[in-house]
Amino acid sequence: MPREHGDSPTPRPCPMCGLPGAGTADRPREVCDDCRASARCAHDRPVTGQNTRFTAMGITVWHDDRTECVSAIGSGRVWVDGHECRIVTTRAGGVAVETTG
Ligand SMILES: [Zn+2]
Ligand SMILES: [Zn+2]
Repeated sequence: MPREHGDSPTPRPCPMCGLPGAGTADRPREVCDDCRASARCAHDRPVTGQNTRFTAMGITVWHDDRTECVSAIGSGRVWVDGHECRIVTTRAGGVAVETTG
């Protein structure tokens, strides 16, 4: 089989749940959308992140009741299924959750 010369990076399985096509060669530690959606902060509450210019991390993070999670905004630390991960900005202007290894 000839390799295709596409400009999209090779998909990798999600490092948390193994779902195919989540991570990429560029960001092999990136978890899939489902795992990102289940991320919890240091307060053990569900959190959602968004890319912003207004914090040092470039990210703002909210709890499920839309209060800001100062802890996650400052440290980037979140947990997926009990595993420590970190929330990061992406070049596309969004956010991603990556395992810390
Ligand atoms: Zn996953
Ligand atoms: Zn929190």
